Amino acid sequence: MSANRETSYKGAARATVLRSVSSRERRSHLTAPRVPTVGIDIGGTKVAAGVVDADGNILERMRAETPDKSKSPRVVEDTIVELVLDLSERHDVHAVGIGAAGWVDANRSRVLFAPHLSWRDEPLRDALSSRLRVPVMVDNDANTAAWAEWRFGAGRGEDYLVMITLGTGIGGAILEDGQVKRGKYGVAGEFGHMQVVPGGHRCPCGNRGCWEQYSSGNALVREARELAAAESPVAYGIIDKVQGRVGDITGPLITDLAREGDAMCVELLQDIGQWLGVGIANLAAALDPGCFVIGGGVSAADDLLIGPARDAFRRSLTGRGYRPEARIAKAQLGNDAGLVGAADLARLVARRFRRTNRRRVERYERFAQVVGK
Ligand SMILES: [Zn+2]
Repeated sequence: MSANRETSYKGAARATVLRSVSSRERRSHLTAPRVPTVGIDIGGTKVAAGVVDADGNILERMRAETPDKSKSPRVVEDTIVELVLDLSERHDVHAVGIGAAGWVDANRSRVLFAPHLSWRDEPLRDALSSRLRVPVMVDNDANTAAWAEWRFGAGRGEDYLVMITLGTGIGGAILEDGQVKRGKYGVAGEFGHMQVVPGGHRCPCGNRGCWEQYSSGNALVREARELAAAESPVAYGIIDKVQGRVGDITGPLITDLAREGDAMCVELLQDIGQWLGVGIANLAAALDPGCFVIGGGVSAADDLLIGPARDAFRRSLTGRGYRPEARIAKAQLGNDAGLVGAADLARLVARRFRRTNRRRVERYERFAQVVGK
């Protein structure tokens, strides 16, 4: 009996320790230095940079075109260094955070692969920090966007959050207990390549039937172009708009026409939304978060997309009627989320760097005293 009590006491003590560690980590951003940091968002076509304060406000922003895909990683690095040095002339920059559209390793130092750039296992963090002489943090852009929405946007107050960004494909991120979950190898959250239709549309990843082939900007445009190319009567509105040039059909155009009441465009967004809801229900079955934040360019369609997603989610959720339903919210920070999140995550790195530096200085001073004597 006493042994049992001992065991349960130990268990309780361990649970207390785990809780205190986790709550300390959860609140780490509260103790991060309130200094300005630079956030960088590297996309397929541009590098956006901004100086961000501790409340997520962008104090100054700059952007440059992403150098050609065929160019060396050094050229992209040079672009980043130029932007940061330019901003440093007017701001006291303490750290730099990079959100990159690609796979970043679990140490957040190397870009393993970036589909739109020539980075292959690139040691980006060390290369940049040695050139900029400030701490640098590198992360996947969906992770930085999720962090920004959790800190300053639609996910505030939610400790279990899943972010889904609908752009050309689907990006994703998981935040649990106030921490980004990156997985063992750093590449968690690639929800877009979960197979939802066996034998379905071919995906550039090499497989068939991936979720992003049914719920993304590319899926939306592909369906609209197919209908327009077939000169379907339902597509007359959009054919008129692009004067027969099917290649000119874009996601924003479809969203604009849907807002004006074009039946085909409304229907296409409904389809994308329904697939979104089905995928979210699958994610809820696996991860059970309190909130799904929907970002990316396609989310500009607002309720034309998110309404059908909510309906499909409720219809597909396992255990529906007997479990709390996660909230589905539209992201609030728009295109700035990646940049703001990268800057804010860099602030945590700046704190660690300061501590290590302080310890180094203290060690050096002690050493100097001893040598002096
Ligand atoms: Zn795929």
